[in-house]
Amino acid sequence: MILLKNLNIEPCLQSDVHIIDDKGIPDSIIIDQQHIQWVGSSTHLTAELKENITKEIDFQGRLVTPGLIDCHTHLIFGGNRAEEYQQRLSGISYETIARQGGGILSTVEATRKASEEKLFEDSTKRLMNWLNSGFTGIEIKSGYGLNQQAELKMLRVADKIAKQFPLHVERTLLAAHTLPPEFKGRAEEYINWIIGSLLPEVVSNNLADAVDVFCETVGFNLTQSKKLLLAAREAGLKLKIHAEQLSDSQGTRMATELGALSSDHLEYLSLSGIKSMQTNSTTAVLLPVAYYFLSETQLPPVQALREAGIAIAIASDANPGSSPVLSPLLTMNMATTLFKLTPQEALRGMTINAAKALGLEKQTGSIEVGKLADLAIWDLQHPAELSYWIGGNPCHTRIYQGEVFNLTA
Ligand SMILES: [Zn+2]
Repeated sequence: MILLKNLNIEPCLQSDVHIIDDKGIPDSIIIDQQHIQWVGSSTHLTAELKENITKEIDFQGRLVTPGLIDCHTHLIFGGNRAEEYQQRLSGISYETIARQGGGILSTVEATRKASEEKLFEDSTKRLMNWLNSGFTGIEIKSGYGLNQQAELKMLRVADKIAKQFPLHVERTLLAAHTLPPEFKGRAEEYINWIIGSLLPEVVSNNLADAVDVFCETVGFNLTQSKKLLLAAREAGLKLKIHAEQLSDSQGTRMATELGALSSDHLEYLSLSGIKSMQTNSTTAVLLPVAYYFLSETQLPPVQALREAGIAIAIASDANPGSSPVLSPLLTMNMATTLFKLTPQEALRGMTINAAKALGLEKQTGSIEVGKLADLAIWDLQHPAELSYWIGGNPCHTRIYQGEVFNLTA
């Protein structure tokens, strides 16, 4: 077992810490090859505990937090949309860009064309930014393939990342991201195709943990979204939804009633949506970077979510169109500056509440005895600094399931 000593476990984090020995100030954590075994003050280490310690690491007063979790990303994609961004800035409308073959369909084209190896290579290059800045978990969606071959290719890449990199990866099937050109004007048929052809293949190859759908006037309507989520639930997968981003489509209410873990975006969430989330303990996932990048003005109802006691998670939404993130820590800064979350809410939003959004809150997301030893140690004094600093990378050490990665070495 490893003794992590001389840590700064800030009082605001201590509600998440199940301290075995609460007589002193907790400054030490004992981990084994997978789990957190003990948290407490080093002055109260018993002889029995000491006997089992094979290694000690002195963190010299550095801040420790749970390992961070990014619960909503589209990390895998071909190409990028920098040129389109330039066009938009010069005043060309999104409609014109889309007519010229730009927008999401250009990413679909680039993703379909890219080999599995190239997609893996590009995605893992981006992933390093998450690994280096204290993330021990990430959710990755498909949704730029939109046909059997390319959706499966994206999910295989996500699966390969999960197997080859030391972090937890949740793989989400988001074939209902947008309508592929082959199904133009036939959204219903496309949903039927996903349910009848793609989903069984994904399930039989164990390539996804969850199914997500973009429920919106420009995406899939309420009936289509519900049909897909019902089929996904039937197949034993977890449910998620992109809802209320551009309008109040009642997607949140529908998905929460089906038992979705989270509803994501939520700028236009109504009171009935909030009530339904409250009743069903659904996590709200807010995406401040997309809000920033698209210069949106409709804020999600943060105060109402707070008052309803709904768990709020935040995520990078990393994607080439609306959130080209390479610095995932910025999510916390933007959640506080743009959405007025407190720094503590932002941190919970990328730890325990992000775990909840993925259905992993019993295993990870907080510094608790019995949970996985997923931790981040920072060259910082106070957790608020994680929201305060803009850019840079203050992560000193990342610990994933008991394996220690010193990032300064
Ligand atoms: Zn998204």
